[in-house]
This record gives sequence, structure tokens and C-alpha cells, in this order.
Amino acid sequence: MPENTTRETVILGSGCSGLTAAIYAARSNLKPLVLEGHEPGGQLSITTLVENFPGWPEGIQGPELIENMKKQATRFGAELKMAHLNSIDLTQHPFMLTVGSEIIHTRTLIIASGASARWLNLPSEQALIGYGVSSCATCDGFFASGKEIAVIGGGDSAMEEALFLTRFASKVTIINRSEKFRASKIMLDRAMAHPSIRFLSSTTVEEVLGVEEKDVKGLRLRNLVSDEVYVLPVSFMFLGIGHIPNAMAFKGILDLDDDGYILTRNNVFPTHNGQIIPGVFACGDIQDRRYRQAITAAGSGCMAALEVEKYLEEHGR
Ligand code: NDP
Repeated sequence: MPENTTRETVILGSGCSGLTAAIYAARSNLKPLVLEGHEPGGQLSITTLVENFPGWPEGIQGPELIENMKKQATRFGAELKMAHLNSIDLTQHPFMLTVGSEIIHTRTLIIASGASARWLNLPSEQALIGYGVSSCATCDGFFASGKEIAVIGGGDSAMEEALFLTRFASKVTIINRSEKFRASKIMLDRAMAHPSIRFLSSTTVEEVLGVEEKDVKGLRLRNLVSDEVYVLPVSFMFLGIGHIPNAMAFKGILDLDDDGYILTRNNVFPTHNGQIIPGVFACGDIQDRRYRQAITAAGSGCMAALEVEKYLEEHGR
């Protein structure tokens, strides 16, 4: 596309919602530009088996599902670019995006920048990322082969990671700060039934040991009921404690909730000071803290793209 050409639509993010929006927009001949962002493919690209996406009775691997969506979007003319947004100006129209050294103008914008893994934010944890601390079981599970490891969290992510990691690790300890687990019954039952998984609840990680050696040697834990502090000797720690929305670029530009998710009306219309901004749409986990499923992300991606079409049509495009 020549310089200074104004795009019909730009999609921020290449996860399930962004790619679904891209398929719909491309099929409407809008030639969408998809900025793939910091984590191309989003959360599905770092997950394992997706068992609940309709149409795959035996399940499908997350990365394969994403790859299929990319092929489907590009087949209809979507352009995928390995880049992320630096800044944005929604006060002028067409909107202006700064992406690296490039300025991009677009008549409509779909924000599908999703959410990223949450960390404990302990200095020792941060120092050991890549040296035995990881938030991606799929990426780093292999390195835990034959080792005793810990998975932090008590939701479905933690259960899924722990079950996946039993393929490699000799023993997996799930550490949950609360007494109760947030995971769905089916996932919790599966993890509990696994002979290599054991559970510690009401327990927090105070320190990851091994900073000097640049290699995880264990975790200093505190039992929140007895206040006992002790060391669990593990060689790997995987985080499975949820996600943080990637909406920093929109602070002060769009209305966000207390946790930083974009507030929307009718699912896909973001607001600023309570007013909808014509031509701007949001979809997927960036605006959904309630369902956060691949299928709901895809659904809202479709809705956003249909709204883009409607908006452009109403504005004579
Ligand atoms: P959840 O919000 O469900 O769970 C987060 C877990 O991390 C909780 O146990 C929480 O503890 C814990 N936690 C959060 N912050 C900290 C912290 N700072 N220190 C220690 N522990 C912490 O997130 P998930 O990612 O597990 O799931 C998100 C959504 O995605 C859910 O709807 C889930 O069902 C879905 N999902 C579905 C899957 C599937 O069907 N295959 C797989 C993965 C996710 P506490 O309870 O104390 O707050």
C-alpha cells in the first residue's frame, strides 16, 4: 500500500478476536491491516489443546487454530504486520497511529490487543524469568523434563498448565494462595486425579531461590493458615495466575475499568468520558473480563468487523 494512503480499517492484535475481525473485514474487501502486537497469535498461541471451540470434536491445538485463522484472513486479503502500536490519536479523523517510525491513518480502528500473563512481581521471580521461571508451559515445558516443578494459581489456567507439564516433569506441585480453587470442576477433578500432581492451598510464594546461581533452586513458601515458612525444592516455577489487559496505550484516551479493561457499550463500542467514539471498536479479552473464552473473543471480533462495515457504509465508503 502506498504511503499516505488512508486505511479503511486497522486491527490491533492478532489473537482470536483480532483474526476473526480480520477474516470478516477482509471478506468485505476492506483490506484490513493487522498489527500483530507483542504476543502474535495471543493467548491461544501459547496454549495446548482447546477442547471447547465448536467444530473440533476431538479438540485442536491452540497454535494450529490461530494458524488456520491467519491463513483464512490472508486468503481474503488481510495484511499481517509484525509491529505494535506506539501511540494513537483518536481526536482527529482519520485516526492517526504511530507504529515504529511509521504513521498510519485509518478510518476505523478495531482494538483486539487482548491480555497478557500476570506475574507475582517478586524481584527474585523477575530476575529468574527464562532461568526456570516461566508463564508459558507450552513454550518452556520441555525444559522441565524429569524435574520437580511448581505451578502457581488455582484457576483453569493453572490446572491446564499443570496437566500439560506432567508430560515432562517428574512431579508437579500446584500452589494456590486461597483455600478454594477457582478452576472449573472438570479441570480440578482431572488435576486431582493425576498421580504426579499434588496441591498446596492457602500458600504464597515469598521468594524464588537461585538468583545468584541464575537457576531456580526452590521456593520459599508461607502457609497463610499456620504462618509456617519453608522451602519447597523445585527446579522450575510456572505462573498460571491470570492475565492483565493490554490497554496501556488507551489510558486517558478511552474509559477503562479499575483493572484496566476497556469499558464498552453493547460489547464492542468503547467510550471516552461516557461518549461512544464513532469508528472505534473493541473486541476480545481487552473488553471482556467475564467470559474470556476463545469463542466469545471470536464472536466479539465478528461483531466489531460488522460494525466497521456498517460505519463505513453509513459514511459513504
Ligand atoms: P482466573 O482468574 O480464573 O484464576 C486466577 C488464579 O490465580 C486464581 O486462583 C487466583 O487466586 C490466582 N492469583 C491471581 N493473582 C495472584 C497473585 N498475585 N498471587 C497468587 N495467586 C494469584 O484465571 P485463569 O487464567 O485461570 O482463567 C481465566 C479464564 O479463562 C477463566 O474463565 C477460565 O475458565 C478460562 N480458561 C479456560 C480453560 C479451558 O477451558 N481449557 C483454560 C484456561 C483458562 P485467588 O482465587 O486467590 O484470587
